[in-house]
Amino acid sequence: MEVKEKAKIVITVASLVAVTVLFVTEYRRRRRHRRKQTSSLSSCYLHSEVRPQFGFKRVLADNSYSEFKHLKLDDASSSTEKASNCHHPYESEITVLLENTKIEFGFLRGECSLKMSDSYVWVEMESQLKKLAEVLAKEKVFAVDTEQHSLRSFLGFTALVQISTHEEDFLVDTIALHDAMSILRPVFSDPNICKVFHGADNDVLWLQRDFHIYVVNMFDTAKACEVLSKPQRSLAYLLEAVCGVATNKLLQREDWRQRPLSKEMVQYARTDAHYLLYIADALTAELKQLATEDSSSPDDTFHFLLEASRRSNMTCLQLYTKEIEDFPGSAAASSIIYRHLNGHGDTSTIALNAEELVRKICAWRDLMARIHDESMRYVLPDQAVVALACKQPTTTEEIYGTIAHTDLATESSPSLSSSVQSPYPVICSHLDDIYHMILNKLAKLDDILPVVLKKCLGTNGTCPISVFNYSLLLNFKTKLSSHSAPKQNGHKNFKQFTRKASRELFVKKFSCKAPVYHNCRIYANDGRLLCYCDKRKLEWYLNRGLAKLVEEDPPAIMLLFEPKGRPEDEGNDFYIQTKRNICVGCGEGKHYLRYRIIPSCYRVHFPEHLKSHRSHDIVLLCVDCHEVAHAAAERYKKQIATEFGIPLFVRRVIDSKEAQGTSSLTEDESMVNSEDAGVSPLHLRSAAMALLRHGNRMPSSRREELLQIVKMYYGGRDISEDDLERALLIGLSPHERRRRERKQGVSLKHSAEVARLDKQENGKKDENNDGEGPADSEKIMNVERSTVADDSGDGGTSEGDGAAELNDAQCNGNTLHQQNSKLSLLGHGPHGKQIVEYLLREYGEDGVRDFCQRWRKVFVDAVHPRHLPGGWNVSHRV
Ligand code: AMP
Ligand code: MN
Ligand code: ZN
Repeated sequence: MEVKEKAKIVITVASLVAVTVLFVTEYRRRRRHRRKQTSSLSSCYLHSEVRPQFGFKRVLADNSYSEFKHLKLDDASSSTEKASNCHHPYESEITVLLENTKIEFGFLRGECSLKMSDSYVWVEMESQLKKLAEVLAKEKVFAVDTEQHSLRSFLGFTALVQISTHEEDFLVDTIALHDAMSILRPVFSDPNICKVFHGADNDVLWLQRDFHIYVVNMFDTAKACEVLSKPQRSLAYLLEAVCGVATNKLLQREDWRQRPLSKEMVQYARTDAHYLLYIADALTAELKQLATEDSSSPDDTFHFLLEASRRSNMTCLQLYTKEIEDFPGSAAASSIIYRHLNGHGDTSTIALNAEELVRKICAWRDLMARIHDESMRYVLPDQAVVALACKQPTTTEEIYGTIAHTDLATESSPSLSSSVQSPYPVICSHLDDIYHMILNKLAKLDDILPVVLKKCLGTNGTCPISVFNYSLLLNFKTKLSSHSAPKQNGHKNFKQFTRKASRELFVKKFSCKAPVYHNCRIYANDGRLLCYCDKRKLEWYLNRGLAKLVEEDPPAIMLLFEPKGRPEDEGNDFYIQTKRNICVGCGEGKHYLRYRIIPSCYRVHFPEHLKSHRSHDIVLLCVDCHEVAHAAAERYKKQIATEFGIPLFVRRVIDSKEAQGTSSLTEDESMVNSEDAGVSPLHLRSAAMALLRHGNRMPSSRREELLQIVKMYYGGRDISEDDLERALLIGLSPHERRRRERKQGVSLKHSAEVARLDKQENGKKDENNDGEGPADSEKIMNVERSTVADDSGDGGTSEGDGAAELNDAQCNGNTLHQQNSKLSLLGHGPHGKQIVEYLLREYGEDGVRDFCQRWRKVFVDAVHPRHLPGGWNVSHRV
């Protein structure tokens, strides 16, 4: 072969290789590019966007389709109240104000300077908020205004609360302090402190919605204007007319989430509250004046003033509610159809088709807004809905164009939307949904919600779970499984998924908010270190004059009395170890909860002195280790039940009046563990319920069968309707009885019975904060309520830290409660009680001590803790 030809071949091969390489690289590059594109389409913008409200730990009004739950006060009267969702917690206090004819009005103290100084107080820390609450508690009157943000939130949230006293203007950063705002609840509901607002209708509802803050005793300067028949009622008018101050009301539409606030916004916010006391004073003078001019009898002197006050307090009686529609988005859809489509009176298929599409898009928009916590107009403005329904674009590009075009065509609100152009990110990351709706792939309106929800929040969903959309998912779970095709597998995945989601939320909601151990120290009066503890415990001793502060940071106290025992006496230095705020199992430091190594169902029945109030048997665990430990404990309980022959659940009950001689648990119910007498409480109650509800409609054989079950409880005698109603309550603790009555709306003629049973409970505070917070997660995670009680409570007193194991008063309270009232026969309570009684009877206190050791061993075997404090041991003696 010629050299030339060889060279030719080489060149050809080389260039072929080069072309191939180039081609392959280009192909790979394109593929990568395409993959990137599609993944950015299917993944949600929220993954990369930080939203201030996602930092809130506790959200009272979430975006689910469920009703808003109002604050429940557990005073004596509340046990007789029905559902409190339609009941104002301070109705009686406000009613007193409405009927009072001798209200004193003094809005100003002596000389008052109108001038607004340069200084104001920015409140962003819990400690500052507490100080503010103290300041306000000493005032007779203060002025309030709020600013809320609504574009980037489904229900809106309060971003700022302005409070002015005679001396100072406070700007409360309610984003930073969202979870701590309950600190201000008492001053707002104090009927002895008058709160001055201007046009309070919205503010009153926003405060309820976000913080469960209820205003009691208000003077609304807008209402005063009304009574005075002023030509205008706006605050701008009053500021101008009464104070000679000009404001730019355009600022009210600013983005109040921004931090720091601009100088102008601070000025605006302060102005809205600062002059209110002065204005209120001026208006009351006018109202009094009007009265004297107008009245014939001296009794009428305060007529106008009282009318203004009465109208103001009527505002306070309003209750926040979430709007509940027949079908998501239906109200908006009807309004859009009415305004934009029906004008032509067109009944052609095209028009009807457009209407149908409007309904679908509105339902979709409603759900999208809830999932992402955005306002409707941020998801898709009405004009865009109309344009889509009329044009019905068929490619994603055209859809995008249609939306973008309408937004330019309508000039929407100023500063906010100008910074972000529609289509907003929600649309961009979920564009294909609209595509499918237009192409009729999501054929039925009913199908849209479950499909979209599953796509966004379901297994491998595109969008993040948050406190706002979490219950949406929970409430929808049942609907989802009935709507979607019965693919068993999918459903299982979904279940697994909700479990994972609930775990994440559980971590967020219930893990300790502040370090549990503060490493404060307590010294004996001879200077020897006794223990490490939290601040609360130090304060407890200090407030009672039982100790003096000996060091500031970290704080240490010295006891002024001789403590009962010394830790080192017992040859154990556990209590003088510095305890770390980490999971004792794996060392996780970001979240942890308290875990009781000895289950409460036993511990509450221990003799007082054996119930360690100290911290040996309460440890911190992360959620994962918590789950492991809890599962092991539940298994071990079963083992104990078999070993001692004391079942975990009460098997059978019998009416003690009918079965004389059986050891009596309470005055009317007896537990029997033999198989030949009595009936299982669950069986009994469901039989009684069925008979009461459908008794006369069911076949007589079935009826007879159920009657037999109930008769077994009543010792075989004939039973009346009263007996059936009484049977519904058997086995329930007083708390459960009330809850059943309230929640299930069972009509109980037997309310006298309930009242009598309730009386035995001695008006103790409910242990289960039902309706709020933990209920759902409790069910899912199956964690003992007491373990998390301190952190999940309503906030008020236990905000921040709450070391349950050190709170003696609380422990004692619970014990009393459990011993005095009847135990629920549905939980492990009776089992725990019987076990402990058995141990004490057979082995004395050592029996209980050994029992504790067994539980510690169960814990160690299950969790293999690597971070237990030095000195912790299985054989620790109380
Ligand atoms: P104001 O107390 O008058 O400053 O209003 C309180 C809040 O109401 C503001 O922070 C806004 O969120 C909202 N708001 C009042 N008027 C308007 C309006 N015209 N447009 C948009 N938002 C408003
Ligand atoms: Mn304002
Ligand atoms: Zn999303």
